[in-house]
Amino acid sequence: MKTYHADERGYYGEFGGAFIPEMLYPNCEELRQNYLRIMVDPSFQEEFHQLLKDYVGRPTPLYFAERLSEKYGTKIYLKREDLCHTGAHKVNNTIGQILMAKKLGKNRIIAETGAGQHGVATATVCALVGIECVVYMGEIDIARQAPNVARMKMLGAEVRPALSGSKTLKDATNEAIRDWINNPVDTHYIIGSVVGPHPYPDMVARFQSVISEEIKWQLKEKEGRENPDYVVACVGGGSNAAGAYFHYLDNPDVGIIAVEAAGRGIDSGESAATSALGKVGIIHGSKTLLMQTDDGQITEPYSISAGLDYPGVGPMHAHLFKSGRGEFISITDDEAMTAGLEVSQLEGIIPAIETSHAFAIFDYKKFKPDNIVVINLSGRGDKDLQTYIDYFKL
Ligand SMILES: *Cc1c(COP(=O)(O)O)cnc(C)c1O
Repeated sequence: MKTYHADERGYYGEFGGAFIPEMLYPNCEELRQNYLRIMVDPSFQEEFHQLLKDYVGRPTPLYFAERLSEKYGTKIYLKREDLCHTGAHKVNNTIGQILMAKKLGKNRIIAETGAGQHGVATATVCALVGIECVVYMGEIDIARQAPNVARMKMLGAEVRPALSGSKTLKDATNEAIRDWINNPVDTHYIIGSVVGPHPYPDMVARFQSVISEEIKWQLKEKEGRENPDYVVACVGGGSNAAGAYFHYLDNPDVGIIAVEAAGRGIDSGESAATSALGKVGIIHGSKTLLMQTDDGQITEPYSISAGLDYPGVGPMHAHLFKSGRGEFISITDDEAMTAGLEVSQLEGIIPAIETSHAFAIFDYKKFKPDNIVVINLSGRGDKDLQTYIDYFKL
């Protein structure tokens, strides 16, 4: 059967795999050999779902957005990941990986973070289980993201500045990888999206798949059917999208819409629209689409939303794009900001700017009145309030 899930070598079509330095091989191999066995273990599943319920607050509601639906002449449901503890979907994955680390006998966690959201989600679960946590972060990002740095410290994590290169996310990633190579036995590296070498993309997608697992029974309750006509999500690395699509990937009746950040415009030189601009290459150990120069140097991405400001996409999404299974739409900063304000005032929900990109598709894509469109509301906008205020001069 044709499938859009990873094969056992971590490939989605031509994308994925594990392109890693030899020194990292033992770490990834240990994870690869154990992750599926651990994840299907009933005791693991029980602990994972108990924490999702009691700590994260799942199931998150599937909410019929009446005024938004009226405005766009179709039935719009919002999957409320913004109501997760810490305000976004990222914690679904960090809970899963901290339990995985425990099962593998690790007593130290490392992570890298750009805007700080993944760092906070990681520091949160390390505090939860009482494990040492080191978060690498570019020196420039530390200065730009002071509130998240403060959160991580408050939660007991050590934030280590990456001082090399552009002093941003990719340099923090290099530092984290160096740390992992030096500490292969006691340390687990928590990657925050469906990126990186196999088995990370598949493992993270499985942890986030609780999103579409819930959508199925919630929609059945509300509409008498499990399948929406479309499921829509914003894509940075692609983890909230992977979770929202997961149980629909191989069901052609469900349209998949992926929304990327066009920044100041696809052709402006300041964008993060990977599907439109990317070429095949290798980033963070995975073969995928990424924005690069003709001689293969990674292009600095740009988006007003920190979470979408990534030069690649996970291999699942590269394959969804290349195969035509997914429909990819790029949304500019201005379009996203306008949509975020509209959702705030029509529904009383201030979305993260990442999510606001997904709400801006209605100018590009028309739906039928009886279509059911589920939008994954990946996070809340509290962290972005200053950006909204400055933009709209509120
Ligand atoms: C991090 C983040 C994203 C982007 O990450 P994905 O892995 O693509 O989901 C999107 N929305 C919010 C609210 C985020 O915090």
